[in-house]
Amino acid sequence: MMEKLIFEYTQTGKMGVSLPGGVATTVAPKELIPSDLMRRSELKLPEVSEPEVVRHFTNLSSMNHHVDKDFYPLGSCTMKYNPKINERCAALSGLANCHPLQDEDTVQGALEILYEVERYLCAITGMQAATLQPAAGSHGELTGVLLIKKYLEMKGETRRFILIPDSAHGTNPSSAASANYQTISLKSNSRGCIDLEDLRSKMNESVAGLMLTNPNTLGLFEEEVGEIVKIVHDRGGLVYMDGANLNALLGIVRPGDMGFDITHINLHKTFSTPHGGGGPGSGVIAVNAKLADFLPVPRVAKNGERYHLRSDCPNSIGRVLGFYGNFGVIVRAYCYIRMLGTDGLQAVSRNAILNANYLRYKLSPIFDIPYNRVCMHEFVASGERQFKRSAVKTLDIAKRLLDFGFHAPTVYFPLIVKEALMIEPTETESKETIDRFVAVLLKIDQESQENPDILHQAPTTTPVRRLDELKANKELNVCWSK
Ligand SMILES: *Cc1c(COP(=O)(O)O)cnc(C)c1O
Repeated sequence: MMEKLIFEYTQTGKMGVSLPGGVATTVAPKELIPSDLMRRSELKLPEVSEPEVVRHFTNLSSMNHHVDKDFYPLGSCTMKYNPKINERCAALSGLANCHPLQDEDTVQGALEILYEVERYLCAITGMQAATLQPAAGSHGELTGVLLIKKYLEMKGETRRFILIPDSAHGTNPSSAASANYQTISLKSNSRGCIDLEDLRSKMNESVAGLMLTNPNTLGLFEEEVGEIVKIVHDRGGLVYMDGANLNALLGIVRPGDMGFDITHINLHKTFSTPHGGGGPGSGVIAVNAKLADFLPVPRVAKNGERYHLRSDCPNSIGRVLGFYGNFGVIVRAYCYIRMLGTDGLQAVSRNAILNANYLRYKLSPIFDIPYNRVCMHEFVASGERQFKRSAVKTLDIAKRLLDFGFHAPTVYFPLIVKEALMIEPTETESKETIDRFVAVLLKIDQESQENPDILHQAPTTTPVRRLDELKANKELNVCWSK
């Protein structure tokens, strides 16, 4: 069923609150607000009753798929279940209501959380120092590339290129380009890993560094990571690890120990912030000793028992965000890490890896799996068999999954796999859920042989059918006007 826009429920004079004695009508006195900041036209608000508002948003929330509803195996995105207790903690009034401009003495607890989360993430990544400022993974990447640039500048070097594998997430080349680098693509070999010969031939003194995802977007651990790092370091470059998905590595292996100079971590994937609707994120950057001095200011520091914010860092690249990062996201990560402890974090990764391999094994008879060996927290299947046999595309399979109440996996990424289905079950799913998913994919595969039209027309049970994605991109319209 379609849900109307909230404005379409408007009836003039309706009100969502009823206060004793009517609503106070006093507004802030004009003399307190500079006239150029005053609203010039009347504020447009929907005029609806409280039950209408509640029902509107409740209905909307159930039209979309979300992880509290059912399985959400969106590869590379780690759509895992996030414990509600972390939401509760982030909403505690002392945390939720503190203001970034408050005096340091009044927010010692908040500063302690920032400080501790930095320390925990350094311990988890094997790095020296971190910044919690970047508001997304891609924002962290840009910060990281700017750190590389600053490091080279301080050495008096100007290098123009960044190496990026052909399996990389699209944000990697765009971050490099945003920092004014040109990118050079690296080939993957037949095992889905970096082709060392290709790397050797492209790494030289004009290359600032390499951005590498590990495990890579095929869900495979880079087998020659030590050698890869050495090749880049030997020619004076730095190595950046895209650690957006740290779900496979916690307590098992650390980017710092693998030789990486920088890594970013998406708190909104691995560390308990729900995401997917464009909400706040956090792309923490952790670095080794070479780069610590260049991190954004202010830095959180501890002096005896007192926490404070430092800006006296002459080599810093400056700020990358207005304040100190998305604090609520950081609080969730703090609770998550404290709650799980070292053993719990390691169990997260072990279970994420186990679930992915179980699912990969169960799907092997149904789909082609181009790099079919032990994977990390995700793997990539291909719908090519179904396409060749019944002209059913991966997109059709993805849409049909929605009819069965599952979110589709990531499709058509990474680009090096044809008709790709990138599947990440995460550690929070039970064997029963994974088995249900396998059973549905088996049924869809049968449908593709017996009645492919069902798939071409899917989804049929969702609030909207197939959308014209091209039109949505070309004629973006997010405003309501009447
Ligand atoms: C999600 C992701 C990113 C980007 O993170 P955003 O927070 O969406 O900007 C980068 N690299 C990889 C591998 C990712 O999965």
